[in-house]
Amino acid sequence: MREFKADLHCHSNCSDGTLSPSEIIQLAKSIGLQGLSITDHDTVAAYNDPAVVSSEELTIITGVEFSCSVNGESIHVLGYGFDPKHPMILDLCSRHTLRRKERNMEILELLKKHEMPLTLEDVGREEGYNVGRPHIALAMVRKGYVPSVQVAFKKYLGEGCSCYAPGKTFSVETTLDIIHIAGGIGVIAHPHLIKKGPIISRLLELEFDGIECIYGNFTSKDNARWLKIAAHKELLVTGGSDFHGEVKPAIALGASYIDKATFDKILEAT
Ligand code: AMP
Ligand code: FE
Ligand code: FE
Ligand code: ZN
Repeated sequence: MREFKADLHCHSNCSDGTLSPSEIIQLAKSIGLQGLSITDHDTVAAYNDPAVVSSEELTIITGVEFSCSVNGESIHVLGYGFDPKHPMILDLCSRHTLRRKERNMEILELLKKHEMPLTLEDVGREEGYNVGRPHIALAMVRKGYVPSVQVAFKKYLGEGCSCYAPGKTFSVETTLDIIHIAGGIGVIAHPHLIKKGPIISRLLELEFDGIECIYGNFTSKDNARWLKIAAHKELLVTGGSDFHGEVKPAIALGASYIDKATFDKILEAT
């Protein structure tokens, strides 16, 4: 019998991934995943796609990755198992879309000042999709301003760089409340990437239900620290690749995954 694998973190082209929701479903089935969640940044539009439904081969759990801040630091919160049509979830997503529109204009202004003018047409996204820094980075590559997306982030778009704008922020507390009201669970996304210890301590005081202990291309040794904390705090364990398609070619769908017992605990909690 094949090993059960569930990847609970990936992005479609509803946010900054390059595959459509139905292409992700196809890919998940072709590589033998049995559990999946599409966790787009600040949007649940993937769940409007009729292809995104559970089947005998693949159980789908609703997901989202909300951008938040705590003590001025940017933090990602994963939500799972909520009602994707809940008015409070849809309202939070609309407020994020507006936040992103304003922030993207600020970033384009900064790029203009640095002699790298770009228009919204250059960024090239249809109305209704969430635009993020990766789209701006890709447009910078197309214009020949930078050789790669990595360089665009490293030199200009990364936090603290000359063309970075944080934009409006939403608190972790409000975000968790909304996920809970919509029947879901809230999970600390990729703690591996949080550099400051006090931020982790602060997050562990909040109403999270789980931690994304198994993540991306990190090794089991890296993940062990988070598994230990989850056990100690009696938090659910989640895991996933953070697959984005061509924007992050080094990370494949299924690069990180959880087993059946871990997946069943999440299903039980939602
Ligand atoms: P935003 O949501 O607009 O703040 O953009 C954040 C997203 O940018 C992250 O979720 C990643 O997908 C992407 N990102 C961040 N740093 C990099 C990087 N160095 N290279 C490629 N993508 C990145
Ligand atoms: Fe992303
Ligand atoms: Fe993230
Ligand atoms: Zn992500």
